[in-house]
Amino acid sequence: MKVYRGEKVLVDGVGLKPAVVLVQGGKVVGVHDIDHPLEKDWKVVDTGSKVLMPGVVDSHVHINEPGRTDWEGFTTATRAAAAGGVTTLVDMPLNSIPPTTTINNLKTKVSAAAGQCWVDVGFWGGVIPGNSGNLKEMVHVGVPGFKCFLIHSGVDEFPAVTEEDLLLALAQLKGTGASLLFHSESETGSEEQTGDPNNYSTFLLSRPEEMELKAINLIIELARKTRVPCHIVHLSAASALPAIRKARKEGIPLTVETCHHYLNLNSETIPNNATQFKCCPPIREKSNQDQLWEALVQGDIDMVVSDHSPCTPDLKLPGEKDFMNSWGGISSLQFGLSLLWTGSRTRQFSLQDINRLLSLAPAKLAGSTVLNISSVKLYITHLCPISKSKFNIYKS
Ligand SMILES: [Zn+2]
Repeated sequence: MKVYRGEKVLVDGVGLKPAVVLVQGGKVVGVHDIDHPLEKDWKVVDTGSKVLMPGVVDSHVHINEPGRTDWEGFTTATRAAAAGGVTTLVDMPLNSIPPTTTINNLKTKVSAAAGQCWVDVGFWGGVIPGNSGNLKEMVHVGVPGFKCFLIHSGVDEFPAVTEEDLLLALAQLKGTGASLLFHSESETGSEEQTGDPNNYSTFLLSRPEEMELKAINLIIELARKTRVPCHIVHLSAASALPAIRKARKEGIPLTVETCHHYLNLNSETIPNNATQFKCCPPIREKSNQDQLWEALVQGDIDMVVSDHSPCTPDLKLPGEKDFMNSWGGISSLQFGLSLLWTGSRTRQFSLQDINRLLSLAPAKLAGSTVLNISSVKLYITHLCPISKSKFNIYKS
């Protein structure tokens, strides 16, 4: 038994308190008052006045192995995660080749990950045209949900779906407990493609908020109709919040995430040619950012994730590539906890709020699963706030 003893242990429903945390086989098996008797042969780690809290769960990470391993593979991604206090990450189904859209592709991905993971890793599946027949099989082996695009994904092997495709997929997912995750941008015709492609404002006008609004209205309708849990990944447009709030009040099963880059960067300060800031949907104005923070306070956004999406330098090349033809993605896996902690200092967020946004909500979304394929076992563990009532989730 390993024991962590500290003056500031984050305990569910209580906040920070002196406590001891018992760990066996890598899992928390007990949380007790600080004076709990300890056995002689237990190894005790004294955390002193440092905060002991659940690890971060990042449910939106793109690891590009196999196929685009030079963009980033499992070793460096999971090491970055560990460096940033992320103890569980969930890999997105695209940018690796093959994408995670069939059981065989999932097996390929799991095999590539084997022996390289420094933190717990889970896998989302993907919905693309024609693969709805594959989804249940992936759910049965432990895939907690599926991501889809309503617009070009950025890679040709992961095409966008139509409403028809979505209805087929949702029919398969109904009753399984799996969620459907949406990259929430749809073409509206309001996109402007003119202007200097080296200016950030040109890129911003090419991905207006209306694109997110249109997609989110469709998602709400689908969730209302089918009652399958739907999840909006990386919300950027604050103007979609009223529709989201209204839908959730109605009891529609809808969850929402935003990303650290939308909370910490704003379009007014992005220099021209600075393609390292390009991601989709785009980073918007400061006024939009303030509304996203307010939505976190109000609980209209459930969680904050990285959408860590690395690429090789030649796909960004600030000054050579422009905003319209460079890769859209930001790498930030190791910075999330620091960013949210820093940003929340002026906004009355407690550590419990941070734990809810970075650990509890994404763990709930991704479920507690053991992937049960081949001889490789990769775990997604619920890393809920430490509480006795939730210990059962650590037992597998
Ligand atoms: Zn993403």
